[in-house]
Amino acid sequence: MSHVIRFDLEKRCAECNTKGAAENGLCLECSTNAMFDMPMKSAIGKAVAERARKLGLGRPKSKRQP
Ligand SMILES: [Zn+2]
Repeated sequence: MSHVIRFDLEKRCAECNTKGAAENGLCLECSTNAMFDMPMKSAIGKAVAERARKLGLGRPKSKRQP
């Protein structure tokens, strides 16, 4: 199983408002944050984080906390 993420450089990130968002509505950095279960501010960010949790992507692999 593979996932392809495409980025729209004119679309703004729902989380941090940076230009260049993926189809999920988040930029690369915020998508990564969501996948690693970092706290998200936007509804879209929370939804992506929730999906990642269900897929098991948010499981801590190492001591990644700041
Ligand atoms: Zn962002």
